[in-house]
Amino acid sequence: MPVTSFPLVACDYCPAMVIFGDTGRTAMPVSAQPVPGGNIVLLAQPLGAPRVVVTADPHAYPGQPRYVTHFDDCPGATTARRRERRDGGVQSETLF
Ligand SMILES: [Zn+2]
Repeated sequence: MPVTSFPLVACDYCPAMVIFGDTGRTAMPVSAQPVPGGNIVLLAQPLGAPRVVVTADPHAYPGQPRYVTHFDDCPGATTARRRERRDGGVQSETLF
């Protein structure tokens, strides 16, 4: 699954590009660059954002690139978290 199959969005709070994943409850910004040992797998869905799967098992989902949440490395994460809590929802046009 090429990384580019997921839409990239510029982060509002830093120059990074992120992928918005669907946790089933809300939208989570995931750093677009795969990270070896990351704890997030993005699974393509027929409609909408890729599904976020958080797993600590390095052997789960073999062959899938691993990601980390952008909250971990975004300078604006504090603001982003607050806005996400207030807004909720999974609309990709609402950053965070
Ligand atoms: Zn950011």
